[in-house]
Amino acid sequence: MGHERTRIMVASGNVHKLQEIRAALPLAGVEWVGTEILAGAWSPPEENADTFFGNALLKAEAGVRAAGIPCLADDSGLIVPELDGAPGVFSSRFAGADASDDANNRLLLERLQGSGDRRARFECHLVLLRSDGTVWASAMGRVEGRISTGPERGRYGFGYDPLFIPDGFKETFAELGPEVKNRISHRARALAELAAALERDEN
Ligand code: IMP
Repeated sequence: MGHERTRIMVASGNVHKLQEIRAALPLAGVEWVGTEILAGAWSPPEENADTFFGNALLKAEAGVRAAGIPCLADDSGLIVPELDGAPGVFSSRFAGADASDDANNRLLLERLQGSGDRRARFECHLVLLRSDGTVWASAMGRVEGRISTGPERGRYGFGYDPLFIPDGFKETFAELGPEVKNRISHRARALAELAAALERDEN
């Protein structure tokens, strides 16, 4: 990577992701910037790939096109084997376009009603592209657990957190809170894997 600081844009309008990435990837040679460097010109692409990796790639490619510098993007979601992998890439819109977290959670409980197999996992895929659009690094993280029988429990997090109980715990992610979640989550694990790949690259 040389000795100059490389600017990398996180291709996401979500400032929480930028903060999480800055905290997880404090690389000496890298300055992480958000889409604000585009002064309002960022519009996220349609996420119409059928894999998390594919959607992360679409977002990173859109970032490189818009900014002309290396870009990192992520995509994540919940996978329930009993539901043939749903909600998967449709996690944010399981109950329909612009569905609320509550509506998605209600539908998930409904679909799993009476089911003996409530296993589930979160996956997060990260793609880092160079400014010429080629893949610099990619990483994946997952956390295994199960979906509670409801009702929703806990006040932290977002999405399916009030229903997801990670293996080794009795509480949901929303009850466990950020300290535990940031240690074992799919996103934390994917970021750790990416950090290791970039550190190897820096040396
Ligand atoms: P995205 O990667 O930000 O596009 O997230 C896709 C969707 O997956 C979210 O809207 C949530 O429904 C779900 N999801 C991803 N990560 C988490 C998580 O850590 N907790 C709960 N839900 C999540």
